[in-house]
Amino acid sequence: MSRLWSDHVAGLSPYVPGEQVKLDNLLKLNTNEHPYGPSPKALEAIRQAATDNLRLYPSYSAQELRDAVAHNHGVNANNVFLGNGSDEVLAHVFSALFLRGVRPVLLPDITYSFYTTYCSYFGVPADIVPLREDFTLNVQDYVRKRSLPPAGIIFANPNAPTGIPLSLEDIEAILSANPDTTVVVDEAYVDFGGTSSVGLLEKYDNLVVIQTMSKSRALAGLRVGYALASADIIQALERVKDSFNSYPMDTIAQVGAVASLKDTAYFERQCQAVIDAREQLRADLQQLGFEVLPSKANFLMATHPKHSAAGIQQALREHGILVRYFRQPRIEQYLRITVGSPEQCARLCNSLRQILGQSA
Ligand code: PMP
Repeated sequence: MSRLWSDHVAGLSPYVPGEQVKLDNLLKLNTNEHPYGPSPKALEAIRQAATDNLRLYPSYSAQELRDAVAHNHGVNANNVFLGNGSDEVLAHVFSALFLRGVRPVLLPDITYSFYTTYCSYFGVPADIVPLREDFTLNVQDYVRKRSLPPAGIIFANPNAPTGIPLSLEDIEAILSANPDTTVVVDEAYVDFGGTSSVGLLEKYDNLVVIQTMSKSRALAGLRVGYALASADIIQALERVKDSFNSYPMDTIAQVGAVASLKDTAYFERQCQAVIDAREQLRADLQQLGFEVLPSKANFLMATHPKHSAAGIQQALREHGILVRYFRQPRIEQYLRITVGSPEQCARLCNSLRQILGQSA
């Protein structure tokens, strides 16, 4: 720690993303990126936007993108908040909606680790609620009356890194039992067979749905995420954003995201390809002796009863394959494997077969 640091910064525990190493013939299945590229129409729009006009500031309102997001989700443009990736959107949610004195934020013990990172960054007390033994979320833990209503509840649906989905009935139960609490449903992986809560926005003004273009739209490098919520909540988020950096995102990102959102046929085809590959990979991993959690995301959480997860991860690394291992209680026996193309999954399974000492 430097003598010039603030005490606040000294106490932070930063988020550590999956490894980003560069190796020949590297197969990266550790950060849930899409195995295929973005829509060719998005790439063309990006190429066309790379002109002298980049000397101009981007559109402040990003109206075209806001309209495209609204259109895709059947909401109005004033129900949309845009950010540089959903991580930035989450940061604004924490400071605009969760930072409410001593009231805590409820979140599961096994979930996207950025939530606790932001709790420590923004000084929001975290009330961490363990998932059940089978890693499902117990709604009863979120609906019981507390003397102090939480400022917020946040979870991912499907959850990460388990991939396990939560039903809309359960989400509705949480929303209706907590009218004075902002309930954030992070739908980063919802397009791979999950069920979106967007339809509940009409009924619940305490709901915020967050989505990203990083996963199902294969645009992680562009950094585009958004929140969908009541106009009132969106205004709170805009107020925080305007005091910070009033441009929602750069010109290239706006243009590429709009073109991607308009290419529905490509999007649906590519999501289905990942879903199909996931189901095949699940069967192949089970064949190899793994137990696999019931994921509706573009990754699988798998554990082998006879081999340590850390050992398999290290051995795969020597085969040039990266998968994610969490040194975290309850899941330290699991590997999180991003679903690749069928060819990539076959390479993974071949390596696993060798590592586990099985013949083909
Ligand atoms: N939410 C969850 C659950 C995630 O796994 C991720 C990706 N690591 C994000 C949000 C952030 O995604 P992005 O900032 O790329 O939109």
